[in-house]
Amino acid sequence: MPELFTVVPPDEALKRLFSHIRPGVGTQNVKVNLALGRITAEDTFAPADLPAFSRSTMDGYAVKAADTYGASEAIPAYLKVVGEIPMGKPAGLTLRRGQVAKVHTGGMLAEGADAVVMVENTQVVDETTIEVVRPVAPGENVLHVGDDVKKGHLLLSARHLLRPQDIGGLMGLGITEIAVSSRPRVAILSTGDELVPPDGEVTPGKVRDINTYSLSALTLQAGAIPLSFGLVGDSYDELREAAVRGMEQADMLVISAGSSVSTRDLTAQVISSLGKPGVLVHGVSIRPGKPTILASVEGKPAIGLPGNPVSALVIFDLFVVPTIYRLAGCTTPPLRPSVEARLTHNLASVTGREDYVPVKLETNPEGLLAVPIFGESNLISTMMRADGMARVPLDKGGLSAGETVTVRLF
Ligand code: AMP
Ligand code: MG
Repeated sequence: MPELFTVVPPDEALKRLFSHIRPGVGTQNVKVNLALGRITAEDTFAPADLPAFSRSTMDGYAVKAADTYGASEAIPAYLKVVGEIPMGKPAGLTLRRGQVAKVHTGGMLAEGADAVVMVENTQVVDETTIEVVRPVAPGENVLHVGDDVKKGHLLLSARHLLRPQDIGGLMGLGITEIAVSSRPRVAILSTGDELVPPDGEVTPGKVRDINTYSLSALTLQAGAIPLSFGLVGDSYDELREAAVRGMEQADMLVISAGSSVSTRDLTAQVISSLGKPGVLVHGVSIRPGKPTILASVEGKPAIGLPGNPVSALVIFDLFVVPTIYRLAGCTTPPLRPSVEARLTHNLASVTGREDYVPVKLETNPEGLLAVPIFGESNLISTMMRADGMARVPLDKGGLSAGETVTVRLF
């Protein structure tokens, strides 16, 4: 039976959902070079020291620091060059007092050397003699064994989202394969008697399906696998049959449209019929996207989105994306890039509701400007023209032109 909304603030809605879902989508081993954006399944410990040998961090001369003490422009230290350390090979040299060896950045320190004098602080006197015009302390300009990473130390913890620097760091230690969470599979159902596929015939009254594709794209962007279940009419049996299949084949179900409370809106009813505890939230204090359904079916999330293409995108971004990370075991999803900008126009809202308004960003001498894209709300083209969504916080009755607003970038 259709019921009236009891709207819940967005934060609380997501918390309620998270308290009912069971993470865990299995794990797999992947090649590190293909692991960008994946989430580690276990702790990784350094199998070796990095660097594995003491290295110079400068172009210059490997020295005994004590030989440079007191050196200055006025009274330089005169030292004997006994050789040049080759790159990629053992130093093959042992320094005695008063001796130095030419070394390049990343080259091995000579035996007996404990510091490097950068080339800028030296003068060549002749083939085998240099002047050092500034002293170095022991260890200066040297990277010691294990300074970067110590053997046996925690390199990456489990549940960590792999970024480019992580890929590089793993490779630098010779780790070429890693256990990660499997990509969550998200079943996407679009419902509505009015929908036709993008390549279908648009007879009067019909519209092309947008949401299957925009939501699948967001799913991919969040590192998950979209499973499309095609278009489903506004029929309880048809929608339920597709939802059951979706739940079986995926780790999460997303139903686009039919999430409101009219008799034609079947999503809540269908989700409730799938299992316990069912619908947890029906109605979120947000615009666009108030008629949102968050549910859990035996620990699997099921989310009903408003059919409006803009609402569907906003709600998917705010609720489905964090749920995808949660399923994959990632406890700290990447922070969403956002910028602060100065509003060029007033934004209306009401206290107790969070609003998202598409904006275009412009730079002017005083900084970033957020120009709201007005006109008919809820049009896909407003999102296409926007750089991000300006947020009017829950506790604000609106924002005035000139105020600072946070813009979530796409
Ligand atoms: P509903 O949530 O079912 O009330 O739908 C709200 C609006 O979104 C209606 O105008 C629908 O035609 C439209 N709509 C629903 N699903 C889609 C879709 N997959 N692609 C484009 N528009 C849709
Ligand atoms: Mg509908």
